Amino acid sequence: MGQAKIYYDSDADLGVLSNKKIVFLGFGNQGSAQAQNLRDSGIPNDQILIANRVDSYAETAKAKGFHVEHDFATAAKVADVLFILIPDQVQPRVFNEQFSPKLKSNATIVVASGYNVFFNLLKFQPGQDVVMVAPRMIGSSVRSLHEKGRGFPCFVSVEQNGTGKGLDAALALSRAIGATKQGAIASSVREETVMDLFAEQALWPNIIMMFREAFNILKDAGCSDEALCYEMWMSKEPAEIFERAADDGFVAQLKHHSTVSQFGQLSGSLKLEGGAMREHFKDILYNQILSGKFCEAFSQIEDDLDKEGDTNPLNELYKRSEEMELVKAEKRVRARLAGLL
Ligand code: NDP
Repeated sequence: MGQAKIYYDSDADLGVLSNKKIVFLGFGNQGSAQAQNLRDSGIPNDQILIANRVDSYAETAKAKGFHVEHDFATAAKVADVLFILIPDQVQPRVFNEQFSPKLKSNATIVVASGYNVFFNLLKFQPGQDVVMVAPRMIGSSVRSLHEKGRGFPCFVSVEQNGTGKGLDAALALSRAIGATKQGAIASSVREETVMDLFAEQALWPNIIMMFREAFNILKDAGCSDEALCYEMWMSKEPAEIFERAADDGFVAQLKHHSTVSQFGQLSGSLKLEGGAMREHFKDILYNQILSGKFCEAFSQIEDDLDKEGDTNPLNELYKRSEEMELVKAEKRVRARLAGLL
């Protein structure tokens, strides 16, 4: 794999956006941050429209001085640029039914996550541009870093170049939301989706499983709940290690640990060949993620995720995870720390 191209402010021309009506569908985490950043970058308020149902998000947008449109068909008709910034699982229904039929045939559609585009769940017209501008940050950081005059990491790509000028639009919009200040990395919906889903379905489940098993074994060996919770995560040591890894280097951060620790970690990890894990990871990547199997299964439970109680599959998973000794022990420790026991 080669090096990815990185785009900076100097690669983007904000002039491309002059007189364009820019509609933000959603004013949540990303919508509110990106719309405010874009306005701060000099895009006139009259060019910006927030499309949101009547509720508190719409009220927040109004309070911040934005024009708000509750009727999605009206918002769709006027949009030259449409940022889709509502939760991924509701995008196909809302976009395909309420926006797609009314959108201009040469509109630019912006997604902040690759999932729905990669799995072909959104209906676009051939003359439209479809671009991804995907911050690698939560919305509050997208806003606060911009307010401090700093950038944030972001992926950018053109997925459908209907007008032939998709890249110019993608870069101008990236710059307007503050994403090219630190450098926006050229990527694709495939790359973004694969990395996201792999982290969520392969890497982190194994990390959670390893913590669960480590907790059980050490508890059996006589370690207390308090000592284990603090040793393993409540001290924030793992968070510090990852912070050092980001600053100093994934392996170089080990130099901050004791010699015994450095020796143990390096010799231990190099001894583990990883063959079984490699096969397990490949199975998830190819047979669960890239095959579309996960996407298909998730589409079938999407509607249930809005339900209350045990019929919501996510609630059911949370309930099952409470059976983990690690979770039970942590509850006891936290209750005791709060003086409740
Ligand atoms: P939020 O959960 O914050 O979205 C909330 C917004 O969506 C509100 O405006 C809400 O308005 C609207 N909304 C929710 N349900 C519906 C619906 N059924 N119909 C119409 N509007 C609806 O989303 P995020 O900002 O977290 O995510 C937006 C996109 O950004 C996603 O693609 C996500 O993957 C991506 N992303 C998110 C990051 C994050 O930090 N969260 C990081 C990087 C990318 P109301 O309820 O009033 O309708």
